[in-house]
Amino acid sequence: MKRTFEVTPWNIVTHDFKPEDKRLQESMTSLGNGYMGMRGFFEEDYSGDTLNGIYLGGVWYPDKTRVGWWKNGYPDYFGKVVNAVNFIKMHIKINGEAIDLAKDQFSDFELKLDMKKALLTRSFTVTKGDAKVAVEFVRFLSVAQPELSVQRVRVQNVGSNKVDLVIDSAIDGDVKNEDANYDERFWEVLSTEQGTDSGNVLAETTPNPFGTPRFTSGMEMRNVTDLTADKVAQPSEKEVVNKFTGVLAPNESAQLEKRVIIVTSRDYDTQAALTDAMHQLSDKVAGQSYDELLEAHEQVWADRWNKSDIVIDGDTEAQQGIRFNLFELFSTYYGEDSRLNIGPKGFTGEKYGGATYWDTEAFAVPVYLGITDPKVTRNLLMYRYKQLDGAYHNAKQQGLKGALFPMVTFDGIECHNEWEITFEEIHRNGDIAFAIYNYTRYTGDTSYVLNEGSKVLTEISRFWADRVHYSQRNKNYMIHGVTGPDEYENNVDNNWYTNILAQWTLKYTLQILKEVSPEQAKKLNVSEDEKKHWQDIVDNMYLPYDKDLNIFVQHDGFLDKDLKPVSEIPADQLPLNQNWSWDKILRSPYIKQGDVLQGIWDFIDDFTPEQKKSNFDFYEQYTVHESSLSPAIYSVLAADLHYEDKAVELYERTARLDLDNYNNDTVDGLHITAMTGGWIAVVQGFAGMRVRDGKLHYAPFLPKKWSHYSFRQVFRDRLIEVDVDQDGSHFKLIDGEPITIDVAGKAVELTK
Ligand code: BGC
Repeated sequence: MKRTFEVTPWNIVTHDFKPEDKRLQESMTSLGNGYMGMRGFFEEDYSGDTLNGIYLGGVWYPDKTRVGWWKNGYPDYFGKVVNAVNFIKMHIKINGEAIDLAKDQFSDFELKLDMKKALLTRSFTVTKGDAKVAVEFVRFLSVAQPELSVQRVRVQNVGSNKVDLVIDSAIDGDVKNEDANYDERFWEVLSTEQGTDSGNVLAETTPNPFGTPRFTSGMEMRNVTDLTADKVAQPSEKEVVNKFTGVLAPNESAQLEKRVIIVTSRDYDTQAALTDAMHQLSDKVAGQSYDELLEAHEQVWADRWNKSDIVIDGDTEAQQGIRFNLFELFSTYYGEDSRLNIGPKGFTGEKYGGATYWDTEAFAVPVYLGITDPKVTRNLLMYRYKQLDGAYHNAKQQGLKGALFPMVTFDGIECHNEWEITFEEIHRNGDIAFAIYNYTRYTGDTSYVLNEGSKVLTEISRFWADRVHYSQRNKNYMIHGVTGPDEYENNVDNNWYTNILAQWTLKYTLQILKEVSPEQAKKLNVSEDEKKHWQDIVDNMYLPYDKDLNIFVQHDGFLDKDLKPVSEIPADQLPLNQNWSWDKILRSPYIKQGDVLQGIWDFIDDFTPEQKKSNFDFYEQYTVHESSLSPAIYSVLAADLHYEDKAVELYERTARLDLDNYNNDTVDGLHITAMTGGWIAVVQGFAGMRVRDGKLHYAPFLPKKWSHYSFRQVFRDRLIEVDVDQDGSHFKLIDGEPITIDVAGKAVELTK
């Protein structure tokens, strides 16, 4: 655990700049607006270690994976998010020398991410020779106009001598991905235009042999300043720059505003249309003042917070954690673009960047259901429906029928290259089916499940029916050679979680087939024999269980492992993934993230308190939570079992996972899909929220350290406010028709 920022309710702020923590600070001050996002790297020169990362939603590159040991069925390429053309770049020169905090002497440093306004500011005072200036940067990615990035820099002469100031404002197409295999560049610059206070760069991703689309991005800047524009030559054929100069007497200051419009070929069919749109949008924002642009942006964020802020009193660490979670989640995805999804690192790093994982259905769907309009979740479900062709392809690659949704993808085709994940981590198919049920249960809207959803369910069921095999010896169906959610084991047989999800999917699909219209049933074309076979699998699926321990067994061999609890591992060997060989990890009993317990969380109402207790007590002692997705699920189960201190400890771990760098990997970027964990732990855990028979149920408790917490929840055209304090729990209908909810077993009528 390592804390680099101060604990405040609305800000991520530090007054300490340590070069060795620079990447960590960059990750934690990331900004995004759903359309694009960036790490909190510096706009000006910095010669020390840094990861300059800007990413555009849906812009990616297929990197070849064919190697000597390539096997049939392997995906052809690994999809990676492309680091975008750098449009925030500046050089700031004082008396001819560039400011560079890796080398310069400076004081009064402040780096602040204001989560309420989604604004990043940074200030410091730098001394260079006999010059001393105070510099302040502000930037935001507009949520009111998603193609817009706004920066402002102010320089004040705080010394006693006059200062020559130069600000170069640039767009640079010479950008690399840190994860490039051969240091190659993924952008080819198509054209540049450089004026005195404006400029643009058009670039296209390099060709690929896999037939996936190439992307063009267009970026146009306008600079507004009280400095003087100097005409200069282009620095290179990939970069445009505007140079501004001035002389600052003591106490004098100058400022520059940089507005950049970023458009991509995802939204325009031709380069001409893209260029036109870029110019038009630039003209539009040129007519608005900085304050107007900022106000429009802040207004959208104010609306988001009004709907979904979670307020915690009595524990500022917990408060900051949950706001950071929600802030970064919304910065990644707020459902505006149905072609996009929620990447595990969002726009904050290259690893996992931008691709879609099962994280969306398993962890993000439950949260988006509670905080946004149902159409946002529906879009997430439609995203998979639209990618069915890719899922057929993936199943076929494995020689199987039906649809196998990918573990990692941009377009439906599997694009991850570890065999134990792509071939084996097939539980994802069940998670995608479960999300359809979850949406329908929460919203009451059956329009998806009875139409597109029934197609997705049918094709997933066809996959399961082909992937199981019948064991003559045991007279039941089994699934061999899988990886469960616990990736610290591979190629196991009869992973309980995978088996139960396969069984459940078949059962649910059979039920839905009875409810669809005759026309839809005809289209789905499931024969009576097929249905009979599915029912047989449902009735005879093998689910490993140990009678003595009264637990579901993670997989056939789990109980034969060398079962020593995590508490026996010396602290300096944790996290295991940074200290142990992969082989040692795979043989160990240590669980990376919820596996059996993930399944118990999914079907929490279907198990007895004794079953939940014995499974939780058993598996918790072996769990290292080295996936960021893990602690929230355990927190909900701990709360359900009234292990309140444990629930709170696990909440802290999930809500502050990146802020406190629990898994020592936040340098790579934030765990965006795990940012759902704080909400899940508070709402499902502490407030005990469940949906049963179309009705909201709560069973709240107040963590000891807290004096009060409250949240708002969207449910079937209502906005409900839940308040919990030492006097108990209070519920208010903020919007919508009266509704009856259940609080700890009692019906409560809510009216406005
Ligand atoms: C987890 C997976 C997850 C992926 C992306 C891995 O570390 O084990 O469950 O899908 O990260 O978040």
